[in-house]
Amino acid sequence: MKPHMEVLIIEDNRINLKLMTYLVQAAGIAVTTAADGERGLELAALRRPDLIICDVCLPGLDGFQVASALKAQPELKDIPLVAVTALAMPGDRERLLQEGFDYYICKPIEPEHFSALISALIVRRKRNG
Ligand code: MN
Repeated sequence: MKPHMEVLIIEDNRINLKLMTYLVQAAGIAVTTAADGERGLELAALRRPDLIICDVCLPGLDGFQVASALKAQPELKDIPLVAVTALAMPGDRERLLQEGFDYYICKPIEPEHFSALISALIVRRKRNG
């Protein structure tokens, strides 16, 4: 098992980024952050995080483009990828899953739900090595 777990959060909204960073760190998990998709992809390759949380509406590359870039890289494609989205229609959610996201969380972020999902995914990741 790795000595610590690390989550990469890609989010351009400062308030959401601050909230998610706080919640992940409160679970004892290290956080790396990026405010746009390009930087997020760089950090994903550099840090090989245990989990990636990605906003859908981002400047430059959007979340869908980030997802397809991550899933096209053999060394990154198995990292669980969670969308954070204000897209609320059922078709939007299906599209997220079809385009490479493994899970999604709807905005506004509900702290208990967010923390429970992230903790469950991290526990599973630890178990699978
Ligand atoms: Mn955004």
